[in-house]
Amino acid sequence: FKRLPLKVESKDELYQMGETFNHMIDLLESNFEKQKLFVSNASHELKTPLTIIESYASLLKRRGANDPKLFEESIEAIHSEAIRMKEMTEQLLMLAKHHEGWNINRSHFNLVELVQQTVKNFQSAYHRKIDLDGDVLSNITIQMDEQKLKQLLFIFLDNARKYSDDMIMVSLGKEREEVCIRIMDRGIGISEDELPKVFDRFYRVDKARSRKSGGTGLGLPLAKEIAEAIGVRVTLESKEGIGTTVSLNIQL
Ligand code: ADP
Repeated sequence: FKRLPLKVESKDELYQMGETFNHMIDLLESNFEKQKLFVSNASHELKTPLTIIESYASLLKRRGANDPKLFEESIEAIHSEAIRMKEMTEQLLMLAKHHEGWNINRSHFNLVELVQQTVKNFQSAYHRKIDLDGDVLSNITIQMDEQKLKQLLFIFLDNARKYSDDMIMVSLGKEREEVCIRIMDRGIGISEDELPKVFDRFYRVDKARSRKSGGTGLGLPLAKEIAEAIGVRVTLESKEGIGTTVSLNIQL
């Protein structure tokens, strides 16, 4: 905003001040509404796993001692809902801080190694085959927040895992002054109508599927914030029933 003058010299200036002031109020109101909606959505989303935990815990209390099958099932449900809640709380905390409050630690590192390592860690954590195409490149040194870039890659790999059953493909390419990391899946894809909404907080095309695979609806919004904070350009292309390709472009 233009700083408001301390002394008003003319009618025009007074009018301009009024305009600026109105604009500021509109902006504050809209931010306040967004915050309110965020808090209300977050509470609602956290309440769901809590309700499930509560009901299984009360079942366990009543009948758990005499019913081994119920015991097993309840512990399983409580465990997975607790993990989901933990994940959601961590994502919420990060989003609440917004990227202005994040510590960005830039360092020099080899991007090829980082992608290879992240893919390897992901494969062993989820036992999913990933085809990594980028062996031709041996060394691309960049300066960036390494941890945040790993986190970004993880979010997109995790989505590829959740919404496809086939092999996930990752490629790394260099073109003039830019590097591009691509994460491709041949999964359920996203329809044209839904595509613009998937970066909205808590938005899920299919809530049930997202839930079953441990989704929170906060992965893509968080990815958007991280990408902005560390200077990565993200493009998401998708075709329903065909698959999704995410491109991460980094300026060298
Ligand atoms: P979630 O935790 O539900 O996966 P995200 O914010 O990461 O939340 O993604 C939002 C929604 O976008 C998902 O619920 C899903 O419907 C859709 N989506 C994201 N990535 C993919 C993908 N690779 N293939 C198909 N749908 C996807």
